[in-house]
Amino acid sequence: RVYIGDKILKGQAMRIAILSRNKKLYSTKRLVETAEQRGHEVMVVDALRCYMNITSLKPTIHYRGDVLHGFDAVIPRIGASVTFYGTAVLRQFEMMNVFPLNESVAVTRSRDKLRSAQLLARKGIGMPVTGFAHNPDDIHDLLREVGGTPVVIKLLEGTQGIGVVLAETQKAAESVIQAFMGLKANIMVQEFIKEAGGSDLRCFVVGDKVVAAMQRQGPEGEFRSNLHRGGSATLARLTPNERSTAVRAAKIMGLEVCGVDLLRSNHGPVVMEVNSSPGLEGIEAASGKDVAGIIMQYLEKRVAEVAERSSRSKTRGKG
Ligand code: ADP
Ligand code: MG
Repeated sequence: RVYIGDKILKGQAMRIAILSRNKKLYSTKRLVETAEQRGHEVMVVDALRCYMNITSLKPTIHYRGDVLHGFDAVIPRIGASVTFYGTAVLRQFEMMNVFPLNESVAVTRSRDKLRSAQLLARKGIGMPVTGFAHNPDDIHDLLREVGGTPVVIKLLEGTQGIGVVLAETQKAAESVIQAFMGLKANIMVQEFIKEAGGSDLRCFVVGDKVVAAMQRQGPEGEFRSNLHRGGSATLARLTPNERSTAVRAAKIMGLEVCGVDLLRSNHGPVVMEVNSSPGLEGIEAASGKDVAGIIMQYLEKRVAEVAERSSRSKTRGKG
């Protein structure tokens, strides 16, 4: 293999670590097989089995008795339930100068729904009107602030549509919010985008492009379009505005590869969430695209760019 400094040259094979808890997951499997087809060496690493001396001047990662070294890139596929430990392991890879497909800070940022919403709003990205509060005494005012019922109430730590409730009346909204608050759960309260008709758009962003998109539709009578809730997916054709909204949202979050979920509202596309470990199964099936291949090509390009830049700055330093 040809290295520039200690990094790989464009077109050369890489050693890639995939941070994933399970080799058998569709997305992990696809990334592994695609990387191997392209001549790379891949290792699936369960972040929860990594341990490390975080204060060492020569950072390393130990894994099931071995020391991990010599990786050019790391692909984080960190589940929501292991964000804290997973991003710490990812950070350790970064300290070892391994190129992360998504940076640990960006993954952490995207996992905090309030922080994400605040960041996107500040940059003028359209979103459903969203509020949050801590004290039950403020519920009445908060509901008025987001435009009144119907509202969608969301548990901040929910995924796959669980913890997302549509409250159609003031009474229902108040009692659901009171119940969640009573359980000490963090929630947000959102304008209900009725005109979306139970469907949303998943825009798969790689670099500065939407490389595939699907429309997800919930079953009859269900406002949540999550595939885990029985939704179905079809190929989506995006408007230029939808494309640029998705790409801008990804950039604001600092994510190079992500899934941006949009709702089609009367006031244009609104961003619901930005997912830093978007699944490949639904999007590859609905779009017919080799999304894993697109990701791998992008990773090759980025690793080569970073290697070239670091070798140039080293040469300059010596001259
Ligand atoms: P999760 O993280 O659990 O997937 P989401 O915020 O993505 O939670 O909400 C789940 C689904 O509920 C969305 O895919 C969308 O179909 C529907 N939904 C969420 N928020 C709204 C809203 N404000 N208006 C209309 N539908 C919504
Ligand atoms: Mg969702």
